[in-house]
Amino acid sequence: MNPQTLFYIIIAIIIIDFIIDKILDTLNAKHFDDPIPQELSDVYNKDEYEKSQRYKKERYRFGIITSTFSVLLTLGFIIFDGFAWVDDIARNFTDNAILVALIFFGIIMIGSDILTTPFSWYSTFVIEEKYGFNKTTKKTFFLDKIKGWFMMIILGGGILALIVWFYQFAGNDFWWYAWILVAVFSIFINMFYAKLIVPLFNKQSPLEEGSLRTKIETYAKSVGFTLDNIFIIDGSKRSTKANAYFSGFGKEKRITLFDTLVKDLEEEEIVAVLAHEVGHYKKNHIIVNLLASILTTGFTLWLLSLFVGSPALSQALGVEEPSFHTGLIAFGILYSPISEITGLLMNYLSRKFEYQADNYAKNTYGAAPLISSLKKLTKNSLSNLTPHKAYVFMHYSHPTLLQRFRNLKRGV
Ligand SMILES: [Zn+2]
Repeated sequence: MNPQTLFYIIIAIIIIDFIIDKILDTLNAKHFDDPIPQELSDVYNKDEYEKSQRYKKERYRFGIITSTFSVLLTLGFIIFDGFAWVDDIARNFTDNAILVALIFFGIIMIGSDILTTPFSWYSTFVIEEKYGFNKTTKKTFFLDKIKGWFMMIILGGGILALIVWFYQFAGNDFWWYAWILVAVFSIFINMFYAKLIVPLFNKQSPLEEGSLRTKIETYAKSVGFTLDNIFIIDGSKRSTKANAYFSGFGKEKRITLFDTLVKDLEEEEIVAVLAHEVGHYKKNHIIVNLLASILTTGFTLWLLSLFVGSPALSQALGVEEPSFHTGLIAFGILYSPISEITGLLMNYLSRKFEYQADNYAKNTYGAAPLISSLKKLTKNSLSNLTPHKAYVFMHYSHPTLLQRFRNLKRGV
């Protein structure tokens, strides 16, 4: 295909993707003031509800500004041959294809991160602050940035270097090697995430002996689940919003509770949240998600291998000398409609899994404490009670509170 046509397709994809996204956002915002479903009328009192209305409207307006900025930046960069410019800079340093790719992506990633930092600053220190969520200090904010870059350089750089190297010796067959590398890496990260990555950003301590630990252990025993690793993480270092998650498998499996969750919920409610997480494990959701993501990666890499050798990809971005890294950028944009679809399927699957985990908690522990914990968590994060169906379908990895409530009430 000729580079000029490809160029127009790339621009069209970016614009259409942006428009679809804005239509969904607007549709969702139109329903911000819908009456609250009767079943959820006890989530907010009048003041809290008004506060939640202001919060979601402010987030919505902010989202329009950030996404418009980023789409204009991307379009401008492509139209004014920004990638060719960065490619030239990288080639001035060295002739080595691996190093050129590393410098090229380094400049793009760190450059775009710096340009979007004012937005994340505003989000944290103005919006989240105004609604009482923010606990991040300015020092933590900058340290997070630096640690994030450090990880990106070590992990992202390492993987990129290996993939370019595979491409050098294996040509279009590189995708096999790259797939095995990425698969092994994701299994490894999934296993040791809590031990290797989390400590860079947070403190974790084992849940102390006491009534909560006893209740959790009693529950775990009742469902035949060995749970030695229960950790409390200092989520309160950054935000008042609460969470809990499962990570690892086999001997490395552990449940992590945010200190904010332990503070906000009663012990029975915490056990119910935990029962939901155990449900994810027992129903093999962790393994299925991991396998699905490995298969998607394989498909993406295979598709990449069919096109990345074509000079038209690089030339569409205005780069004279075709290379793996500029081909990768063009492919990334052309692939985005497909990744929208796979993302949609993953969200659909994830919502199914949430129902299954809720049902597991309902059947093995009880619906009432899970319902009250979900309501409290919704209230404490000022979540939207009336999202639009299309928005939920596209963006939600969890069913809405109303859907989960109705499912939990069913058959009780
Ligand atoms: Zn879940």
